[in-house]
Parts: sequence; C-alpha cells; structure tokens
Amino acid sequence: MQGDLPEFTEDVAVLSCVKDLGELVHYNRSISLGHIKEMIEEGIHRIQRIEWLPCDLHRKALFIQTYIDQNIWPFALYSCDTTYIGQKHFDKLRRATVNTLVGHWHNASPMLACNFLSKFLMDPFLYTLCQCIRIIRRLATVQHDLAVETVQNAATYDGSRPFGPVGWELNANGIVSGPDHLQFDVLKDPIKKIINTCREMWNHHIIASMDRKGIGDFLLDSRLSLRVYAKCTESVQQLTKMNVVGGFQTQSMKAIWHKETSEKCVFCGECDTRDHRLLHCPLGTEIRSQYPDVIDVLHNMRPEWIYICLCPDSMKWPFSSVRIPKL
Ligand SMILES: [Zn+2]
Repeated sequence: MQGDLPEFTEDVAVLSCVKDLGELVHYNRSISLGHIKEMIEEGIHRIQRIEWLPCDLHRKALFIQTYIDQNIWPFALYSCDTTYIGQKHFDKLRRATVNTLVGHWHNASPMLACNFLSKFLMDPFLYTLCQCIRIIRRLATVQHDLAVETVQNAATYDGSRPFGPVGWELNANGIVSGPDHLQFDVLKDPIKKIINTCREMWNHHIIASMDRKGIGDFLLDSRLSLRVYAKCTESVQQLTKMNVVGGFQTQSMKAIWHKETSEKCVFCGECDTRDHRLLHCPLGTEIRSQYPDVIDVLHNMRPEWIYICLCPDSMKWPFSSVRIPKL
C-alpha cells in the first residue's frame, strides 16, 4: 500500500479547515473562525470609515444606514449562518455601529442604536438568525424532506453552545416558539410572517438582555419607535438621537468614576441628574413653561422617558387611550 503512494519531496500542509464552494469545512472539532473573524474585523473597519464621510448630516445618516444594511452586514456576517461565532463578535459590530451613528459616547447603548435609530438597520444577531431561518424556509420549498430532516437534527442538538436568544425554542416539527406565546412554523409559514414574528420576539430579547434605567418595565415597540423617529426632521433626529440610545452622561454619573468631577449642576449647583436637567433645573424653566403637556407626561405617565425615550408596546400600555401631546 505504502509503495503505491507517490513519494513527496515537499512538506504537505495539514489544514484543519478549508473553504469549499464558499462555505467553511472543518476537519476537526476545534472551534476556529479563520477568515470569518477577518471579515468581521474588515466589516468593523468599513463601519468606522463611514463615520468620517464628508457630506451633510441628513445624507450622511441615510447613506450610513442604507450602506450598513445593504453592504456591511452581508459582508461581515458571511458564513455566520453556518458557523457559531459567539456573542462578542456581534457586540463589536454593534459598538462600531453606535460609534458611527451617534458618536463615541461610552454610555450610548449599542443594542438600542442597532434597533431603534433606523428602519434600514437590523441588529447583526437578528440579521444572522433571519438568514438561517430564510435558508431553512427556502429549503422547505425546494427539498421539503431535507428541510424536515435538518430541523429535526437541529431540534435534537444537545451541544453546549446554544445559538439563539434565551427563550426561543426550535421544535422537531418546525415550530419555533418564543416569549409571550409567539410562534411560527419555519417549514410552512410565509417568510414575511416569520420575519415579523422574529422581530416581535426580538423586542422581548432586547428587554431581557439590557439592564439600564428606563428599560425593563415595559415591552418596547420597535416599529412604532422607528416610525415616530423617522417622522422627525433631520435636525430633531440629530438632537434626540442621544436620548434614543441613552448616550448622555450627567455630572453625577461622571462623578462616580472620575474623582475630580463634581456632581453638581454647572448652572444652579444642585445635583446634576437626568430628571434635574429635564424637569427641575432653573435654566430650563422658560422652555418647560412652553410645553406643559410634555412635562405632565414625563412627570405622571412616562417617567422612564427621562432616561430612554422609546415607545412602549401599545398592547401592554395601560395609557393606550391617552394621546401623547405633539412636541
Ligand atoms: Zn441645574
């Protein structure tokens, strides 16, 4: 047998993974991201380059958001629908996105920036989940038996690395069930219904995965929030984007980590907190007097909007009959 093999005069490289027909093929069980990691890094560089585009704010925002959705996610997340890449890579993409869209503010939430600033932008992890689901749904149309077998294999997978938000469960019959009795059939339902249900389930995941003031008491309605934000003028969007992502840092917050910073308001000497700025600081008395309805909402109906101003899910909003005053 050994005599039948040709004699090699050069060393042969032994590879643990190769790319075949555009997909990574692993020859051992070690987790190696290889070129996937490089593409994610390149995706982050591309997002960072957009930050310095020399154009006016409105065009810049439109171009950034469209550009990210059309180009960078498909590029950076290529092959991530077939390989587990770990949450830290999604976190890096989100952080690069929030830096580009609202600036380098430590307090700004990458999760909120990827979900509530533009309808053209989908969270990178949700984007990847939807890509996986689309592949299975297409397979169910062209090779139904193979899709059924794939779903059964995935449903019985007992590895240590779950892929998907906590609470989302894939059943062997193709039903994906999630929080609040939301569910869809990945083998039969129309793709539009599947993606819309995923977005609703994702709203629950946002709440579950975040721990900051103004988030957690109510389910957020991402569609309504995006519609309201999109209706604002470009200058209002620029002025309020930090409120959407919670990027402001008050003096009292800064004083926690910076010993030389005073927690006092530079205008009146009171403790500088979020509600002080919006509701109490004498500097804003005249402006507040022009919008009594808004101040009433912040005081009595939606105190969490002092921290993050996003629309709650109307189905779970006890004040659904109350009309929010026009700003
Ligand atoms: Zn003040």
